[in-house]
Amino acid sequence: MVRYPEPTPDGSCLETLPLSKPYSILRTTMTMQAVALPAFRDNYLWCLVHEGRALVVDPGDAAVVEQWLKEQQLHLSYLLITHHHADHIGGLGELLERHQPVVYGPDEGIAGIQHILRGGEALSLDGFGHVDVLAIPGHTRAHIAYYLPEPALLFCGDTLFSAGCGRLFEGTPAQMYQSLQSLAALPDETRVCCSHEYTEANLHFAAVVEPDNRSRQARSEEVALLRAAGKPSLPVLLGQERRYNPFLRCAVPAVIQQASQEAGQALGAGLATFTALRAWKDRF
Ligand code: ZN
Ligand code: FE
Repeated sequence: MVRYPEPTPDGSCLETLPLSKPYSILRTTMTMQAVALPAFRDNYLWCLVHEGRALVVDPGDAAVVEQWLKEQQLHLSYLLITHHHADHIGGLGELLERHQPVVYGPDEGIAGIQHILRGGEALSLDGFGHVDVLAIPGHTRAHIAYYLPEPALLFCGDTLFSAGCGRLFEGTPAQMYQSLQSLAALPDETRVCCSHEYTEANLHFAAVVEPDNRSRQARSEEVALLRAAGKPSLPVLLGQERRYNPFLRCAVPAVIQQASQEAGQALGAGLATFTALRAWKDRF
């Protein structure tokens, strides 16, 4: 039986265990753990484990999930999908056929989803408790997030990243801005489980937007150490993100000023600044 590390006071509690891969396990409650399974180049397939049962968010690669299930001798109970991109659903069909999990996901024409969610639903998942579903369109048309208030975990797919946010493929800046605002309204202690390890690149951009931001500097140092040790930079506390993620700081004078300078016109706080920042990041 694997022993899980005690949580640290800041709740980060990431430690490498002697498994075939250096997985980082987060103990979320006395009996529930979360693990970020690395996949492809920079994806994380998030897995919650409770008493031998697994819940996987965005199973992009079936083989990665299979290996973890086998190694830990877990039964796959649930699959939660955030949006339709291949790196998030690629393993769905195979896992569904082999393990018959219950599958939840958005209304984006994804094969294999048994329960379509649009946001606003409250799920009760056996062994994993209460899950709130949030509509967060922008990256895709019907992107959703899953928030577990009890272990304070947020699975937000490709919408909120550490120090950044997702690209606008199907939605408008206004939708994405609203989506980020609704995520930012969750409690400070929420641990944000993003689907990609984009943190370092995002921090480079954040450094240009807010060169003097001390919290950003501290986060850059922290992430450099984590990545050098082969550990994920995630999850990250939402309260921490609000202090340096430029996309959550569109009402901060320094951010507005920098975005205005780049855009060549005086921008208003909020949506106008967000729109300019997102466009700037696209060409950064
Ligand atoms: Zn995506
Ligand atoms: Fe993705």
